[in-house]
Amino acid sequence: MLRPVFLGFLLRPVFFGILLRAVFFGFLLSVVLLSCYLNAQESNSPSEVDRGWKAGVARVVITPPEYMWMAGYAARDKPADGKLHDLWLKALALEDAEGNKALLITSDIIGFSRELSQSICGKLHKKFKLERKDIILSSSHTHSGPVLNNNLYGIYPPFDDKQKEQIRRYQQFLEAQVLIAAERALGSLAPSSISTGVGISRFAVNRRESGWEGDILYSPDVKGPSDHSVPVIKITDERNRLTAVVFGYACHATSLSINKWSGDYPGFAQIELEKMYPSATAMFFAGFGADQNPFPRGGVLQAEQYGKELAISVERILEGEMEQLSPSLKTVYEEIELEIAQPPDQAKLEQIIENGAGWEKRWAMMIMEKQAAGEKLEDSYPFYPVQGWQLGEQSLVVLGGEVVVDYALALRELLGNDIILVGYSNDVMTYIPSERVLKEGGYEGKSSMWVYGHRGSWEPGIEEKIITEVLRQMYFCKNKEIDYLE
Ligand SMILES: [Zn+2]
Repeated sequence: MLRPVFLGFLLRPVFFGILLRAVFFGFLLSVVLLSCYLNAQESNSPSEVDRGWKAGVARVVITPPEYMWMAGYAARDKPADGKLHDLWLKALALEDAEGNKALLITSDIIGFSRELSQSICGKLHKKFKLERKDIILSSSHTHSGPVLNNNLYGIYPPFDDKQKEQIRRYQQFLEAQVLIAAERALGSLAPSSISTGVGISRFAVNRRESGWEGDILYSPDVKGPSDHSVPVIKITDERNRLTAVVFGYACHATSLSINKWSGDYPGFAQIELEKMYPSATAMFFAGFGADQNPFPRGGVLQAEQYGKELAISVERILEGEMEQLSPSLKTVYEEIELEIAQPPDQAKLEQIIENGAGWEKRWAMMIMEKQAAGEKLEDSYPFYPVQGWQLGEQSLVVLGGEVVVDYALALRELLGNDIILVGYSNDVMTYIPSERVLKEGGYEGKSSMWVYGHRGSWEPGIEEKIITEVLRQMYFCKNKEIDYLE
């Protein structure tokens, strides 16, 4: 039985005040506890895991099923007669937190022409709804792969119908293999982490400054600019297992000139990395190294050595701290018009025909024949591809053609050292000299236009046009203005 004094207290207003406060704070506490509980539940739920990156990777062999003419050199006089190792095409599919997808293709070939890229991208769009900007078709530029149409075509001796048919058949095979790799990569998208870092390897030498076959063994110093960075993109799955490693280097894949299929040093580097990390697919892309050669060159052991050097540079980065990227993807692609100068005059062409040999002579004859037939010669190339990808905090600049190292130096100055530069992509229509190289001339500045079948050199202004487009795209990717100082 309650005592009357206590009963009296219960009836006093002060008690109701305390009771109300207790109910109010109790309610607040329950709300806080409930929301903590729900948050904890949510962070363990699959939807939270799905809000990260997804990645899928696949590889297919693209070694030609028959011995055919090999790409890259004018001097070869017979088709391939064996192989050191298989040529590969590899696909990395990416999907960000919003469900945006992209596809990176790397390959042991000389380069995709625009025609081939368009055909492939058309099929990828139809089948997987990927837009042109979402696809990078890159090549290692190996000089130990097969000849492809519309790529360096003028450098080879004229092909007969049987050889032309072989090239056509190979391109059909290559296209089919790209589709298979893309399907497998997109079909294996799984939660992943992506991180990046940069290593270094120093076997690339500026071939314009050091001479084509210059012996640098006893040189006190190596002349001319080079880009010795080794960009690395690391993909790991939920169990922190390495599933793919993408890496690049700015140097011609020209250690070898024998008649056996191989990926040259990039092929050996990929093999080495896949031996070191059996769970991973290693993917190589060529940077802006059109004026760079591995020096010295000429032997299988050298190609293996450069491959191992590169693999160890990549390993060092993979085993260290790397920057993890936020799961957002932005892509942009544009084709810009670059002007082409007039061909040499009649007298000069006649002089080339009289004194020249091989591809130079064939080119001069082709120009004269076209002029005599009243054919209009191209005064520009309206399709130069410039592409930008933003993977979280990491920017990628992807250019077509064989881009000289000056572009790497200029873009690093403008966009920072951590930018990833991918060359030999989407359309390898010829060399892309800087204003300096264009003025100097030589192979990369002038005559390489001939082996790609163009009427003359690029017009001055090429560097500014390309860099302006790159900056416009990076502005779009990064949402900020970038100063472009002359
Ligand atoms: Zn080249």
